[in-house]
Amino acid sequence: MSKLIFEKSVPGARAFALPSCNVPEPGELPDSFLRQEDALLPEVSEVEVVRHYTELSQRSYGVDNGFYPLGSCTMKYNPKIDEWAARLPGFANIHPYQVEETVQGALELMFDLEEMLREITGMDRFTLQPAAGAHGEMTGVMIIKAYHNHRQDLHRTKMIVPDSAHGTNPATAHMAGFEVIEVKSNERGLVDIDDLRSLMSDQVAGLMLTNPNTLGLFEEEIQGIAEVVHAAGGLLYYDGANANAIMGVARPGDMGFDVCHLNLHKTFGTPHGGGGPGSGPIGVKAFLADFLPVPVVVKRDGRFALDYDLPLSIGKVQSFYGNFGVMVKAYAYIKALGASGILEACENAVLNANYIRTRLRGHYDIPYDRLCKHEFVASATKQKKEHGVSALDVAKSLIDYGYHPPTIYFPLIAEEAMMIEPTETETRERLDDFVEAMLAIARDAVEHPEQVKDAPRKAVIRRVDETGAARNPVLKWTP
Ligand SMILES: *Cc1c(COP(=O)(O)O)cnc(C)c1O
Repeated sequence: MSKLIFEKSVPGARAFALPSCNVPEPGELPDSFLRQEDALLPEVSEVEVVRHYTELSQRSYGVDNGFYPLGSCTMKYNPKIDEWAARLPGFANIHPYQVEETVQGALELMFDLEEMLREITGMDRFTLQPAAGAHGEMTGVMIIKAYHNHRQDLHRTKMIVPDSAHGTNPATAHMAGFEVIEVKSNERGLVDIDDLRSLMSDQVAGLMLTNPNTLGLFEEEIQGIAEVVHAAGGLLYYDGANANAIMGVARPGDMGFDVCHLNLHKTFGTPHGGGGPGSGPIGVKAFLADFLPVPVVVKRDGRFALDYDLPLSIGKVQSFYGNFGVMVKAYAYIKALGASGILEACENAVLNANYIRTRLRGHYDIPYDRLCKHEFVASATKQKKEHGVSALDVAKSLIDYGYHPPTIYFPLIAEEAMMIEPTETETRERLDDFVEAMLAIARDAVEHPEQVKDAPRKAVIRRVDETGAARNPVLKWTP
């Protein structure tokens, strides 16, 4: 392993020298705010700085390096033309305080994007403000709360969430002040509608659902589920983070959902995973439109305007109007694909997942082995039982074969789960390579399980204490 930048430090070395200051020094700062010793910053030449960051960039793994089947995260290829569009100076250099007259193009883009998202989801009105999926959930659930409160229906304190739900769903409901009630999945991996019926009451505010669910399975009874919830006065929230599973084919608005969010940074052309800007717009049915955050973009007499006049609005959930650059990328993505391209992307996402699922069959257990949507769950139960090799071991081993591991131990209802989402942007050849790696690991588990349990052997960092890394992170270099 190469030296740390601190170890490369040479006293006096400089990458860049600032000219001497020719303006007066500001007033003296109180001693208590001043450093007593110089900061221990590394001192290196310009080329060493460049090498440092280049090396760091090469140690990380992204979709532009290789296949990244991290289930539920939709780590697909984001066309570079979307980045180009977002960087056009007319979009990149505008300021949120500019007067409306000077940003008509940006407002038009937001207006048109909303219209396209309405078409894709079957919802009636959108806000583009939320900065991520979980933020969209929070906004949507706050709207559900505001709706019940507005009707003086004040005892709806419970939110129902399936046991297979993405973790953000119960977290959101809890943060919004609801009691989270879990509805069970049946043996087919779908919402147990009898259990749902037994949970319904006039205290239930709504149900949060992902369809397809985290097993990649389509909730076939969705219309029945919607009837049960609506009959009891509850609303339906749709977690549309993985819209590539249904876009162009089915719409949450048609399934009976009242509120839904989308992850522009998963489905619509923005890279994610490194903590960069995201966008989680939410759509609502017409009867909830007055509760949306302000402002919304409207068109009046051929001009675009920001409308703050929504008396029932839950208020603002984000400074200004949301992450505009991500909206530009989504707009460019959807326009480039067109309606037929959106449909084709969905079909390929589903085809790719089913292709891997059927090829892994017989080598790994597939707990819910039937037609899936964008992802499926494989399991290492067989390897665990016969050779002591767990889902974690298989995942770590994939790193040695050059792949990012899938999501593991999620959803919680599947043992030794490996949640695989190939996405629509992978080629048949690349899917075959991945399958070959998975089959090789299955053979390794039989022939030399110790090696699999010791993986990764080729990575810069071997096996880490993952709990310790999260709970007691060491973020500081100490000489
Ligand atoms: C990714 C995801 C979320 C959360 O989205 P963030 O943008 O990460 O907050 C919610 N639900 C599902 C099903 C997801 O896959």
